Amino acid sequence: MFGYPKQACLHLPTPVNYLSNLSERLGIELYIKRDDLTEFGLGGNKLRKLEYHIYDAKEKGATMLITVGGAQTNHGRLTAAIAAKNRMKCAVISMDDYPGELSSNMLLERIFGAHVVLHKADGTPIMDVVERVAEKYESQGERCYFIPMGGSNEIGALGYYECAQELKHEFKSGHVITALGSMGTYMGLFCGLHDSSLHLTGIQIMPYEEDILKYASNYFNTVKSAWKLDFNVTADDFDINEDYLYGGYNVPSKEVRDAIYDMARSEAIILDPCYTGKAYAALLDMIEQGKIKKGETVIFLHTGGFPGLYTPNHRKAFEEELIDGVTIL
Ligand SMILES: *Cc1c(COP(=O)(O)O)cnc(C)c1O
Repeated sequence: MFGYPKQACLHLPTPVNYLSNLSERLGIELYIKRDDLTEFGLGGNKLRKLEYHIYDAKEKGATMLITVGGAQTNHGRLTAAIAAKNRMKCAVISMDDYPGELSSNMLLERIFGAHVVLHKADGTPIMDVVERVAEKYESQGERCYFIPMGGSNEIGALGYYECAQELKHEFKSGHVITALGSMGTYMGLFCGLHDSSLHLTGIQIMPYEEDILKYASNYFNTVKSAWKLDFNVTADDFDINEDYLYGGYNVPSKEVRDAIYDMARSEAIILDPCYTGKAYAALLDMIEQGKIKKGETVIFLHTGGFPGLYTPNHRKAFEEELIDGVTIL
């Protein structure tokens, strides 16, 4: 594909399930693409991107991966996992205080043997911290390879270009819904679905500092020149929905918890409170608003993230709501 090789470590394509209980209740044909079931490090969308990053890292002779993320970074967890599998060192850097308890993903990063670096968000540019950490390891003889936030650059997006090829095999038409964070997933799918009759909507899960369509256009142009794509797009071609931020990045929200209960109790599938729960809450609202029509085929991309349920602020909110169904005899 575009001459970009990868190190294949996943069983692809990922499964697709028909959600019969929800389809019947919601009056749509609802499918779920299980990118949460990718097999390393508890799974998730970042692994498809990492197949391409790890290839590039090894080509460049790297012995260590360094990446950055928020406290609730699934990408950090999966980078730590893929580093372990490839016998590489790993450091995950986060601009966060230590609130007295590690997030679930950070604990898992440590279990995978990665070094977790927490730096207070005091205005220090994150790349300064990355450089400091890289220098320390390079002075010990490591060769460091940096992967940006969420793995979302022109290399990472290749993983979702590839997912788009699977979707085109699996569905002739339909409406694909994905959570959108650092945008690599959306952009890879967008480029890959460009020539298909599958429509793609990205549900933004956090505010962007700049205009998101401008950001998407710039990202598209980077990908376009790296991959030598032969089509142009305008900002109008992106379908990015900013209406479902639910308070911002990783903020606990009642609507999102309700959406998580709905999916769990209808289909026995667990979503996460930072990304997929929001995307599913958005889907429910879009159906209610008539933006998704009865009978439509909808393909919900499950991008993973379930350790987020166990992170202190979310866990507490869930437990407060659910304790009334616990009987202590
Ligand atoms: C990172 C992530 C996303 C968003 O993917 P991006 O490529 O960053 O937009 C969605 N869901 C989960 C569970 C994630 O970890």
